[in-house]
Amino acid sequence: MGRGYLQQMKCNIAIDGPAGAGKSTVARILAERLGYLHVDTGALYRALTLLVLGKGIDPTDESAIAQLFQDAQVDMVLEPGGVKVLLNGEDVTEAIRGPEVSETVSVVAQHPQVREHLLHLQRRLAADGGVVMDGRDIGTVVLPDAQLKIFLTASAEERARRRMKELRSQGHKVTYKDILLSIRARDNLDAERPVAPLRAASDAIPLDTTGKDLDTVVEEIMGYLSSVGRCGGCFTDS
Ligand code: C5P
Repeated sequence: MGRGYLQQMKCNIAIDGPAGAGKSTVARILAERLGYLHVDTGALYRALTLLVLGKGIDPTDESAIAQLFQDAQVDMVLEPGGVKVLLNGEDVTEAIRGPEVSETVSVVAQHPQVREHLLHLQRRLAADGGVVMDGRDIGTVVLPDAQLKIFLTASAEERARRRMKELRSQGHKVTYKDILLSIRARDNLDAERPVAPLRAASDAIPLDTTGKDLDTVVEEIMGYLSSVGRCGGCFTDS
Protein backbone atom coordinates (compact mmCIF):
# COMPACT_ATOMS: atom_id res chain seq x y z
CA MET A 1 0.00 0.00 0.00
CA GLY A 2 1.69 3.24 -1.07
CA ARG A 3 2.01 6.52 0.73
CA GLY A 4 -0.26 8.36 -1.72
CA TYR A 5 -3.10 6.07 -0.66
CA LEU A 6 -2.44 6.89 2.96
CA GLN A 7 -2.56 10.61 2.41
CA GLN A 8 -5.80 10.36 0.47
CA MET A 9 -7.56 8.65 3.36
CA LYS A 10 -7.08 11.51 5.83
CA CYS A 11 -8.10 9.75 9.00
CA ASN A 12 -7.90 11.34 12.43
CA ILE A 13 -6.18 9.45 15.23
CA ALA A 14 -6.82 10.35 18.89
CA ILE A 15 -4.28 9.41 21.56
CA ASP A 16 -5.27 10.13 25.13
CA GLY A 17 -3.80 9.21 28.50
CA PRO A 18 -2.20 10.56 31.68
CA ALA A 19 0.95 12.69 31.94
CA GLY A 20 4.13 10.92 30.90
CA ALA A 21 2.49 7.89 29.26
CA GLY A 22 4.44 8.65 26.09
CA LYS A 23 1.54 10.07 24.08
CA SER A 24 3.40 12.89 22.38
CA THR A 25 6.44 10.86 21.39
CA VAL A 26 4.29 8.05 20.05
CA ALA A 27 1.96 10.50 18.26
CA ARG A 28 4.92 12.32 16.69
CA ILE A 29 6.44 9.11 15.32
CA LEU A 30 3.07 7.90 14.01
CA ALA A 31 2.46 11.24 12.31
CA GLU A 32 5.90 11.13 10.70
CA ARG A 33 5.32 7.61 9.42
CA LEU A 34 1.88 8.39 8.05
CA GLY A 35 2.67 11.84 6.68
CA TYR A 36 0.06 13.30 9.06
CA LEU A 37 0.17 16.43 11.22
CA HIS A 38 0.93 15.88 14.91
CA VAL A 39 -1.05 18.09 17.26
CA ASP A 40 0.14 17.93 20.89
CA THR A 41 -2.83 19.58 22.62
CA GLY A 42 -1.02 19.66 25.99
CA ALA A 43 1.33 22.18 24.36
CA LEU A 44 -1.64 24.50 23.71
CA TYR A 45 -2.71 24.39 27.37
CA ARG A 46 0.91 24.89 28.36
CA ALA A 47 1.29 27.95 26.11
CA LEU A 48 -1.74 29.63 27.67
CA THR A 49 -0.41 28.72 31.13
CA LEU A 50 2.91 30.37 30.29
CA LEU A 51 0.99 33.51 29.45
CA VAL A 52 -0.96 33.37 32.72
CA LEU A 53 2.27 32.96 34.71
CA GLY A 54 4.02 35.70 32.77
CA LYS A 55 1.22 38.15 33.52
CA GLY A 56 1.20 37.18 37.21
CA ILE A 57 -2.47 36.16 37.09
CA ASP A 58 -3.89 33.80 39.70
CA PRO A 59 -4.32 30.46 37.86
CA THR A 60 -7.59 29.81 39.74
CA ASP A 61 -9.12 33.11 38.52
CA GLU A 62 -11.12 31.94 35.51
CA SER A 63 -12.60 35.30 34.54
CA ALA A 64 -9.21 37.09 34.62
CA ILE A 65 -7.76 34.28 32.49
CA ALA A 66 -10.65 34.38 30.02
CA GLN A 67 -10.14 38.13 29.69
CA LEU A 68 -6.44 37.62 29.03
CA PHE A 69 -7.17 35.08 26.28
CA GLN A 70 -9.30 37.51 24.29
CA ASP A 71 -6.14 38.78 22.59
CA ALA A 72 -3.97 35.68 22.93
CA GLN A 73 -2.99 33.90 19.76
CA VAL A 74 -1.70 30.34 20.05
CA ASP A 75 -0.48 28.63 16.88
CA MET A 76 1.23 25.45 15.87
CA VAL A 77 3.48 25.57 12.84
CA LEU A 78 5.18 22.70 11.11
CA GLU A 79 8.87 23.47 10.53
CA PRO A 80 11.69 21.24 9.27
CA GLY A 81 12.86 20.58 12.87
CA GLY A 82 9.34 19.66 14.07
CA VAL A 83 6.20 21.41 15.26
CA LYS A 84 6.76 24.81 16.88
CA VAL A 85 4.37 26.42 19.34
CA LEU A 86 3.88 30.15 18.97
CA LEU A 87 2.31 32.39 21.57
CA ASN A 88 1.43 35.78 20.11
CA GLY A 89 4.00 35.11 17.42
CA GLU A 90 6.81 34.20 19.84
CA ASP A 91 8.36 30.71 19.75
CA VAL A 92 7.62 29.18 23.17
CA THR A 93 8.30 25.52 22.25
CA GLU A 94 11.03 25.16 24.91
CA ALA A 95 9.64 27.52 27.52
CA ILE A 96 6.36 25.61 27.95
CA ARG A 97 8.20 22.49 29.18
CA GLY A 98 9.55 24.03 32.39
CA PRO A 99 8.50 22.68 35.81
CA GLU A 100 6.59 25.86 36.73
CA VAL A 101 4.27 25.45 33.73
CA SER A 102 3.92 21.71 34.47
CA GLU A 103 2.84 22.45 38.03
CA THR A 104 0.24 25.03 37.04
CA VAL A 105 -1.16 23.80 33.72
CA SER A 106 -3.79 21.43 35.17
CA VAL A 107 -5.25 24.25 37.24
CA VAL A 108 -5.56 26.48 34.17
CA ALA A 109 -6.88 23.59 32.05
CA GLN A 110 -9.79 22.86 34.35
CA HIS A 111 -11.59 26.13 33.56
CA PRO A 112 -14.47 25.60 31.11
CA GLN A 113 -13.73 28.90 29.32
CA VAL A 114 -10.13 27.85 28.72
CA ARG A 115 -11.24 24.52 27.29
CA GLU A 116 -13.85 26.16 25.09
CA HIS A 117 -11.21 28.61 23.78
CA LEU A 118 -8.94 25.75 22.73
CA LEU A 119 -11.69 23.40 21.52
CA HIS A 120 -12.27 25.45 18.38
CA LEU A 121 -8.59 25.65 17.55
CA GLN A 122 -8.14 21.88 18.00
CA ARG A 123 -11.15 21.05 15.81
CA ARG A 124 -10.00 23.49 13.17
CA LEU A 125 -6.58 21.82 13.03
CA ALA A 126 -8.25 18.43 12.47
CA ALA A 127 -10.99 19.61 10.12
CA ASP A 128 -9.38 18.18 6.98
CA GLY A 129 -8.32 14.91 8.63
CA GLY A 130 -4.78 13.59 8.50
CA VAL A 131 -4.06 14.47 12.13
CA VAL A 132 -2.62 12.52 15.05
CA MET A 133 -3.84 14.46 18.07
CA ASP A 134 -2.80 13.68 21.63
CA GLY A 135 -4.24 14.92 24.92
CA ARG A 136 -6.73 13.99 27.62
CA ASP A 137 -10.15 14.48 26.02
CA ILE A 138 -9.49 14.02 22.31
CA GLY A 139 -11.42 10.78 21.89
CA THR A 140 -14.24 11.86 24.22
CA VAL A 141 -14.77 15.57 23.44
CA VAL A 142 -12.53 17.11 20.79
CA LEU A 143 -12.69 14.45 18.08
CA PRO A 144 -15.38 11.96 19.10
CA ASP A 145 -15.53 10.76 15.46
CA ALA A 146 -11.80 10.00 15.19
CA GLN A 147 -11.37 6.75 13.25
CA LEU A 148 -8.81 5.35 15.69
CA LYS A 149 -8.67 6.07 19.43
CA ILE A 150 -5.90 4.86 21.71
CA PHE A 151 -5.80 5.29 25.49
CA LEU A 152 -2.16 5.09 26.51
CA THR A 153 -1.24 4.37 30.13
CA ALA A 154 1.79 3.35 32.23
CA SER A 155 2.36 3.08 35.97
CA ALA A 156 2.89 6.41 37.75
CA GLU A 157 6.41 5.28 38.74
CA GLU A 158 7.41 4.50 35.18
CA ARG A 159 5.93 7.77 33.94
CA ALA A 160 7.88 9.69 36.61
CA ARG A 161 11.12 7.95 35.61
CA ARG A 162 10.57 8.85 31.94
CA ARG A 163 9.72 12.48 32.76
CA MET A 164 12.80 12.78 35.00
CA LYS A 165 15.08 11.53 32.23
CA GLU A 166 13.53 13.91 29.73
CA LEU A 167 13.72 16.97 32.01
CA ARG A 168 17.29 16.22 33.14
CA SER A 169 18.39 15.87 29.54
CA GLN A 170 17.01 19.37 29.00
CA GLY A 171 19.11 20.67 31.90
CA HIS A 172 16.34 20.93 34.53
CA LYS A 173 17.39 20.03 38.09
CA VAL A 174 14.62 17.74 39.27
CA THR A 175 14.20 14.83 41.68
CA TYR A 176 12.27 11.60 41.10
CA LYS A 177 10.19 12.18 44.24
CA ASP A 178 9.07 15.66 43.17
CA ILE A 179 8.16 14.46 39.69
CA LEU A 180 6.18 11.50 41.01
CA LEU A 181 4.23 13.81 43.33
CA SER A 182 3.61 16.29 40.51
CA ILE A 183 2.45 13.54 38.13
CA ARG A 184 0.05 12.13 40.74
CA ALA A 185 -1.32 15.58 41.50
CA ARG A 186 -1.87 16.23 37.79
CA ASP A 187 -3.51 12.83 37.27
CA ASN A 188 -5.97 13.64 40.05
CA LEU A 189 -6.79 17.13 38.81
CA ASP A 190 -7.17 15.93 35.20
CA ALA A 191 -9.33 12.92 36.10
CA GLU A 192 -11.53 14.65 38.67
CA ARG A 193 -12.38 17.90 36.88
CA PRO A 194 -16.05 18.23 35.92
CA VAL A 195 -15.42 19.41 32.34
CA ALA A 196 -13.76 17.05 29.84
CA PRO A 197 -11.94 14.91 32.43
CA LEU A 198 -9.16 12.50 31.54
CA ARG A 199 -11.09 9.39 30.53
CA ALA A 200 -10.89 6.69 27.90
CA ALA A 201 -13.61 6.92 25.25
CA SER A 202 -15.84 3.84 25.24
CA ASP A 203 -14.47 2.93 21.80
CA ALA A 204 -10.79 3.61 22.64
CA ILE A 205 -8.23 0.82 22.63
CA PRO A 206 -6.38 0.69 25.98
CA LEU A 207 -2.63 0.26 25.68
CA ASP A 208 -0.41 -0.11 28.75
CA THR A 209 3.15 0.91 27.88
CA THR A 210 4.76 -0.13 31.19
CA GLY A 211 7.93 -2.06 30.36
CA LYS A 212 7.45 -1.60 26.61
CA ASP A 213 9.87 0.31 24.44
CA LEU A 214 8.76 2.98 22.02
CA ASP A 215 9.12 0.84 18.89
CA THR A 216 6.91 -1.88 20.34
CA VAL A 217 4.18 0.64 21.20
CA VAL A 218 4.32 2.29 17.78
CA GLU A 219 4.18 -1.08 16.00
CA GLU A 220 1.21 -2.11 18.11
CA ILE A 221 -0.69 1.01 17.11
CA MET A 222 0.28 0.58 13.46
CA GLY A 223 -1.20 -2.90 13.78
CA TYR A 224 -4.51 -1.50 15.04
CA LEU A 225 -4.45 1.04 12.26
CA SER A 226 -4.22 -1.64 9.66
CA SER A 227 -7.05 -3.70 11.11
CA VAL A 228 -9.98 -3.91 8.77
CA GLY A 229 -12.66 -1.25 9.07
CA ARG A 230 -10.95 0.35 12.07
CA CYS A 231 -9.98 3.50 10.30
CA GLY A 232 -12.20 3.57 7.27
CA GLY A 233 -9.46 2.05 5.15
CA CYS A 234 -6.63 4.15 6.62
CA PHE A 235 -3.66 1.84 6.30
CA THR A 236 0.02 1.39 6.99
CA ASP A 237 2.59 1.05 4.26
CA SER A 238 5.26 -0.38 6.59
O1 C5P B 1 0.23 16.45 27.68
P1 C5P B 1 0.81 17.37 28.73
O2 C5P B 1 1.28 16.65 29.94
O3 C5P B 1 1.81 18.30 28.17
O4 C5P B 1 -0.44 18.26 29.14
C1 C5P B 1 -0.33 19.27 30.11
C2 C5P B 1 -1.67 19.47 30.82
O5 C5P B 1 -2.61 20.08 29.92
C3 C5P B 1 -2.37 18.22 31.33
O6 C5P B 1 -1.91 17.79 32.59
C4 C5P B 1 -3.82 18.66 31.38
O7 C5P B 1 -4.08 19.36 32.58
C5 C5P B 1 -3.92 19.64 30.23
N1 C5P B 1 -4.52 19.06 29.05
C6 C5P B 1 -5.88 18.93 29.01
N2 C5P B 1 -6.50 18.45 27.90
C7 C5P B 1 -5.77 18.07 26.83
C8 C5P B 1 -4.37 18.17 26.85
C9 C5P B 1 -3.76 18.65 28.00
O8 C5P B 1 -6.55 19.26 29.98
N3 C5P B 1 -6.41 17.63 25.74
